[in-house]
Amino acid sequence: MSARHAAQRSLPLAAWLMALGLCAGVIPARATIRHPGAFLNETERLRIRDHRQFAKRLAQIHGEAPRLTPAEQWHLRYLDAFETTLQGDYVAAEKPLRAVIEHSGNPVLAAKASAVLLSNLAISHRYEDAFKLAHQLSIQLPTLHDRAARFMVLANLSQMLNLAGQTESALQYARMMEDTIPAGGSLCDPRFKQMAALYNAKKLTASSAALEETVQLCKAAGQPIIAAATELIISTLDLEEHHPRRALALLDRIAPSLQNNRYYPHLLSAQTQRAQAYEQLGRDDEARKTALAVLANAHPGEVNNFLTDIYELLYRLAERHGQPTAALDYYKQYVAQKQGALDDAAAQALAYQTIQQQVLTRDLEAAELGRQNSILRLQRALDAKAVESTRLSIALLLLMLAVVALWLVRTLRSRRHFKQLASRDALTGILNHQHFMNECNRLLRSLETRPGHASLAWIDLDHFKQINDTHGHATGDIVLQHAVQLCRAQLRPGDLFGRLGGEEFGILLKDCSRDQAIAIADRIRHTIEVHPMVLDRSVVFLSASIGVASTSSSGHNLPDLCRDADAALYRAKRAGRNRVVAATDGGALAV
Ligand code: GH3
Ligand code: MG
Ligand code: MG
Repeated sequence: MSARHAAQRSLPLAAWLMALGLCAGVIPARATIRHPGAFLNETERLRIRDHRQFAKRLAQIHGEAPRLTPAEQWHLRYLDAFETTLQGDYVAAEKPLRAVIEHSGNPVLAAKASAVLLSNLAISHRYEDAFKLAHQLSIQLPTLHDRAARFMVLANLSQMLNLAGQTESALQYARMMEDTIPAGGSLCDPRFKQMAALYNAKKLTASSAALEETVQLCKAAGQPIIAAATELIISTLDLEEHHPRRALALLDRIAPSLQNNRYYPHLLSAQTQRAQAYEQLGRDDEARKTALAVLANAHPGEVNNFLTDIYELLYRLAERHGQPTAALDYYKQYVAQKQGALDDAAAQALAYQTIQQQVLTRDLEAAELGRQNSILRLQRALDAKAVESTRLSIALLLLMLAVVALWLVRTLRSRRHFKQLASRDALTGILNHQHFMNECNRLLRSLETRPGHASLAWIDLDHFKQINDTHGHATGDIVLQHAVQLCRAQLRPGDLFGRLGGEEFGILLKDCSRDQAIAIADRIRHTIEVHPMVLDRSVVFLSASIGVASTSSSGHNLPDLCRDADAALYRAKRAGRNRVVAATDGGALAV
């Protein structure tokens, strides 16, 4: 069903809005207000049940305004706005309602204020604002748990959607109202909202049981205006179904109640229907009189569906009764009313579509934002990938550096190793001749600049040729290594030890006087003597002859030291081997 069609079929909007319910109930006003918060809550409960008491209590609490907490002041402001609404001053009510919505900081009160504002906007034909608010409320609904506020919001959403021709949604919201009936409430309002939606959806007949059920529910709940509004739906259906007598009977039955309530939209609706019923019955005079009575009661400039129907009826009657001038005049009024109603319906439809469009646009914007978000996410992912690949590059670089470093270390190590190989004797691992000499030179040069002496011991294993001959060259090698180990054990860390060639060795004893050197040399000699080489099948005895020369007598010149040490060694050999001979200034002294 189109919004326009719905509007054409609609009961007057104000009738629905007021159908929130007014019922009698007198609460005695208290002289003093002990608990303003509780007083405000009680006043709120009376707002549509007893308007007189409501207004009285509002005036009373205004006297206590300075005592109120900020929260209570916001509550009072909302109730004041509600009162302004009840007075019909929708423009004046808007500002305080919006203030409550935006600044009270109370979501429940804000929801209630939104619900009232929604009604006011719709009554004021500000459909776009109304639908916009309805949309916002529908979004907030899932988080709104306060029963009273939720009930109000659902009622107004149902009403707005019904107005927009969205009868299915209107019905749904009306059904949801049943689950959130506030304390002291009833099924009357939810059921009436359902009837209103079903009526607009053309899903009711005058004899639908649900209509009569709603009437009885509302009467039992003490809500005569909603009961009457439901009965007016039944009489409208009677007329649509061409049962004017049934319609008239119903209208007669509810007339006292309508008169009692003096609710103008209902009186207008009932009178219009009565005129239509008379016309359908062919009681044209009564129809005309009733219709004219409607016009007499209408407000100047008033435009609504009832007046459209009334002018149309009067035009038909005038034409039927040969009154062309009157017929033309009523026809013009009918067209003007119809246009107004159509304009209003069109405005409703347009507003609904506009909001729908905006919502759709927002959805699209959301989709676009989502798309942009995905792009951003992708970008971020790419950036992350870039960072990752940068990290990977750095890792690779570090790995390469590590490899290079390792290579360098290995190269240096192998260089050192080669250097070591180059400086060491392959068989015994001690300095080779050349390197020993070089090192000796360096040490002697360093000793020239500071006090202290060094001594050179020249060692030659005795009769080594025989060992080789007896045990073989390989055993000779092992014996050489054995002798080196024995010598090493007698040396200090700073001493230089080298193989001069064959079975000859040199030791430069650092910071060592001639006597100390003789003692060390003799210990070496003794060690070699007492530590024969034990083999599997034999024992190889060996001994060494040692010539000692010291810087104290030979000076710091290496060749001189070597020469003197060698000469001393020669003497040791000549003296019978297995002994130490030290060079002196004058010659050599055997130890
Ligand atoms: P002396 O007591 O006079 O020093 O007698 P010697 O036999 O030790 O002296 P000589 O100089 O005649 O002989 C040295 C021997 O040392 C000759 C050589 O075969 C042996 N020799 C030299 N270098 C090595 C070596 O690296 N391994 C082995 N097994 N023997 C070696
Ligand atoms: Mg020799
Ligand atoms: Mg020898």
